[in-house]
Amino acid sequence: MDVKYRLRFNEGNVHESVAYILVTKFDVVPNILKADVKEDGGVMILSMGGDSDNIVRAIEHLKGLGISIKTLDKYIDMDPELCIDCGACVSVCPTKSFKFNPETWEIELAMETCVACGACLTACPTHALEIQL
Ligand code: SF4
Ligand code: SF4
Repeated sequence: MDVKYRLRFNEGNVHESVAYILVTKFDVVPNILKADVKEDGGVMILSMGGDSDNIVRAIEHLKGLGISIKTLDKYIDMDPELCIDCGACVSVCPTKSFKFNPETWEIELAMETCVACGACLTACPTHALEIQL
């Protein structure tokens, strides 16, 4: 499974060209999954391909630029108390991360394929889903 990272920028580092730095300085190939960055800061979610030592060095470099970096292992929370297993999230998810479990008749979420697009949050009629960025 690809490790995904959440990068949080502030107004002092928002103009850093993260993709360029990763490729040219560290031979690391970024796969940007989501970016919501404005003049005063923002958030980017990406995975990185390449040598693991290079990725570690690249992360340290980005931290040195003041970019906050967090490994994302779970960023959609599903509240079982609110979920009514309607299946609306299943049909909108572009990565088919939701599955119907025929044993329990419940909808389950496989976090490893989620790309944090947010489509399921909008589709859910009971607001059972929350994104943790
Ligand atoms: S955020 Fe997007 S990819 Fe992730 S589970 Fe929801 S719809 Fe699927
Ligand atoms: S859309 Fe919401 S209520 Fe419906 S199955 Fe998905 S999480 Fe549960």
